[in-house]
Amino acid sequence: MSVLLPYIKRKIHFIFDLIYKRVILIGRIFKLNLYLMWPKTLYIEITNLCNANCRMCPRHDLNRQEEHMDTNLYKKIIDEASAWFYKPKIHLVFLGEPLLHPDFIKLVIYAKSKGLVVSTISNGYAMNNEYAQALIESGLDEITFSLDSLSKKIYEQIRIGLDFDIVQKNIHNLLRLKKELNSKTPEVQISMVIQDLNRHEKDDFIKYWIDKVKGVYFQYEFKDFEDGGRRKINNNINKIISERRKSCYYLDEMMVIYSSGQVTVCPADDFAEMLVGDSKLEKLLDIWRGDKYKNLRRKHMEGEYKRIKKCANCDYWRGYNVTKEEVEIGKRKLIKDANELCENYRLKK
Ligand code: SF4
Repeated sequence: MSVLLPYIKRKIHFIFDLIYKRVILIGRIFKLNLYLMWPKTLYIEITNLCNANCRMCPRHDLNRQEEHMDTNLYKKIIDEASAWFYKPKIHLVFLGEPLLHPDFIKLVIYAKSKGLVVSTISNGYAMNNEYAQALIESGLDEITFSLDSLSKKIYEQIRIGLDFDIVQKNIHNLLRLKKELNSKTPEVQISMVIQDLNRHEKDDFIKYWIDKVKGVYFQYEFKDFEDGGRRKINNNINKIISERRKSCYYLDEMMVIYSSGQVTVCPADDFAEMLVGDSKLEKLLDIWRGDKYKNLRRKHMEGEYKRIKKCANCDYWRGYNVTKEEVEIGKRKLIKDANELCENYRLKK
């Protein structure tokens, strides 16, 4: 029975998740202000410090204090989230390199001890052999490495301040250690932010990584990428937004907690423009079900996007709603967003 228990729990969670998605869909169709009673995902910015200076990162303009999240605050967040009926997925990243948090491994172990699924995104530079072993033993479920090129020259032009050889060595070392320790976790994904410098490498990048990792993930680039970071939207995208605009799923499903403890509503809000609460002072569920959140959801349901400064020119919401066309690449399936100006692919085994 104890062997079956995790399987049964996963199945129950899966069915519950399915029902939740339908509820949200019905809410969208009938313009009802429905949202999940609990967020599905918590982004926790355990640090906003970084060891890189990537050319496309909005962190260049960070207007918040640079800090690691206080461990006691982190535990408060995890204690609350793990007590919910619906356990959210914990994503230990926002702006900053998570592995720089001095207690990163302990933070993962704590969340895992509370039965939560934990993932992160890293540049991999700080993950030496010892760190890699500790990561595997921590029980971390998933890690995505941001690795934008197969070429040292191009990589170091994009991921400024990092050393391509060290990062490659570290990732391969983690994959080797996983095999040696016969560990299924963390599942490893590799991501690439497509831009002019690396666009020509995309196919080779897939070929190189697809058999080595769980998935290869491509993030989009905007045309005016070099002018001010990936959050900036150009005029053509604005046109598409006005034609097809739909209510944003982030407001219904996830919550972002900055290293300070302040809470915002989505991963597009790098600069704290849509604060809805403070996790140091309030319970997360009170924030989630509070008036500030409700007002934002209502404006979206009523199509009043332009009345929210940050949402007016944002197209993050499209990630959920765009038409998907499926293409076979060898035995693996490529799910491609039908999107004229940006690319967002996810390769799945
Ligand atoms: S539309 Fe953009 S800015 Fe507004 S809530 Fe969605 S992701 Fe955030």
